[in-house]
Amino acid sequence: MRSESLAVSIAAHRRRRSLDDLRACLLEFVAMPREERIAFDPVELPRRYTHPRDIEVSGLLSASMAYGRADLFKPKIAALLGAMGPSPAEFACELTPLRARALLGGFIYRFNVGADIAVLLTGAGKAIRERGSLEALFAEQLSRHGDLHAALSGFAAALRRVPMAPIRRELGPVRGLDHLLPSPLGPGAAKRLNLFLRWMVRGPDGVDFGIWRTIPASKLLVPLDTHVGRIARHLGLTRRKDLTWRTAEEITAALRQVDPIDPVRFDFALCHHGMSGACPLRPSRQTCSACPLNEVCLTGRRILARARNWTTSSSRVAGRKT
Ligand code: SF4
Repeated sequence: MRSESLAVSIAAHRRRRSLDDLRACLLEFVAMPREERIAFDPVELPRRYTHPRDIEVSGLLSASMAYGRADLFKPKIAALLGAMGPSPAEFACELTPLRARALLGGFIYRFNVGADIAVLLTGAGKAIRERGSLEALFAEQLSRHGDLHAALSGFAAALRRVPMAPIRRELGPVRGLDHLLPSPLGPGAAKRLNLFLRWMVRGPDGVDFGIWRTIPASKLLVPLDTHVGRIARHLGLTRRKDLTWRTAEEITAALRQVDPIDPVRFDFALCHHGMSGACPLRPSRQTCSACPLNEVCLTGRRILARARNWTTSSSRVAGRKT
């Protein structure tokens, strides 16, 4: 009996120690300078604005279109924002179907055509005219539904609730609106909507804006993409391989143990650790030995231990030969 309780307390002690190690390592990792990575990230586009309403509208557009390769979608979004003039929020508030045709006629980016973007901008303009901000619209949905999944569904649905006939007349039918502004949300991680929320809610910290003060950062869900999912598995934050809402919840719950107030603060650093190639698809002895996460990374520790064993046994063999 005593030996059983001793085993339980040793296991609890080990868990605590490994959580302390993970916390110390992630806090150091997230504090490393990363300004140069902003140029490779869609957040660079809303960072060109200072007024909160312009940040909201440019942020919603940029996050919603942030799929595929950043070097392909960023110029598309930048060109749209450039044509909208100095204030994207004013542009959205005054948008008519005719002006939408002038901006978006012939626009196409992968799944999305001009009519899809016109719905998003018209919806954003309507929300700002009626409620004063996109924050007010989201806060209303969050207090109505209580949980993030339903609140994001309601937020996207409200943005989509615009007169469709005049948009269709000027720009043709929508094509990828369900991809641009999914509603209702399915089992997927809704990465781009959660990314938009991260930008608006947490910070300010040189990446995220922190302009939505009524939503606590503790409510956020990690904007799960393939990079974050892969590195989270290496770190033992999840074993799940799918990019679903459930996986995002599991990773966020693990990060909440590291920082209960702001669990999503690690997202930008982890994502760019993968995007930059510092943690590639197939990590190697070279990448892992240079990695600041290697002491708490399960994969990195395995790779480095194997390399050490290999070096030790080769030098023993070499020693026997001489
Ligand atoms: S230690 Fe290796 S596997 Fe782990 S995060 Fe770093 S590069 Fe990736």
